[in-house]
Amino acid sequence: MVVAEHVSKSFGAHRVLEDISLSVDPGEVLCIIGPSGSGKSTLLRCINHLERVDAGRITFDGSVVGYRQQNDRLYEMKPREVARQRREIGMVFQRFNLFPHMTALENIIEAPVRVKRVPKARAVKAAKEMLVRVGLHDKGDHHPSQLSGGQQQRVAIARALAMEPQLMLFDEPTSALDPELVGEVLDVMKGLARSGMTMIVVTHEMGFAREVADTLVFMDGGVVVESGDPREVLSNPQHERTRAFLSKVL
Ligand code: ADP
Ligand code: MG
Repeated sequence: MVVAEHVSKSFGAHRVLEDISLSVDPGEVLCIIGPSGSGKSTLLRCINHLERVDAGRITFDGSVVGYRQQNDRLYEMKPREVARQRREIGMVFQRFNLFPHMTALENIIEAPVRVKRVPKARAVKAAKEMLVRVGLHDKGDHHPSQLSGGQQQRVAIARALAMEPQLMLFDEPTSALDPELVGEVLDVMKGLARSGMTMIVVTHEMGFAREVADTLVFMDGGVVVESGDPREVLSNPQHERTRAFLSKVL
């Protein structure tokens, strides 16, 4: 579903991603770990059209991100095509970014109604199902300020799911949460993984990665240092940089 081939990306003279290659099959969960500044967020942002790669390419569901193929040639996507492809990808950030003046339910129906033109009654019905799925069936009329961080993040997940994405990207979804709220968000993500959602998850939660990931990628300094079965990478890292990182976080 996602294939990155020799992807590089610089900001000015600063090479942030260097020759990154990885792939995620439908229904798979890929977890990415690595120190701060290693390029994890930038990689997710490249997949989701928020940044452009300088070299190499990323394909999503068979088409090159940012380009459309015609007669064996690639043309840059028009904004409308970018928007259409982005709709297939849900993203959840460290900061929940809910609209503060809207209830949980209103947050969830916003994009389906405005962007996808789903009739409001249908969007509300679907949103209520999403709230059940994230364990918040009774919180639809609460505003973000009335919800805990963990509850807000679960609303953010429900909001992303309401667009019926094919792929979900998570960028350190539990890093801003108090420790006692981390588990409820990870549980929702585990359920999502079990339901067959294709997911790329940047996380520092090694227990989650070990349990849920099909593949674990360790990034450092803009490169993939190693990747593989999470149990293998975590218990028997092959590279000194991986060992050094794990010794700090485990
Ligand atoms: P991570 O998510 O692994 O912490 P990031 O992808 O956020 O890493 O950042 C990687 C590097 O790229 C960092 O050095 C960061 O400062 C730099 N960077 C990220 N975004 C930008 C930007 N828009 N402009 C310039 N530098 C950036
Ligand atoms: Mg980051």
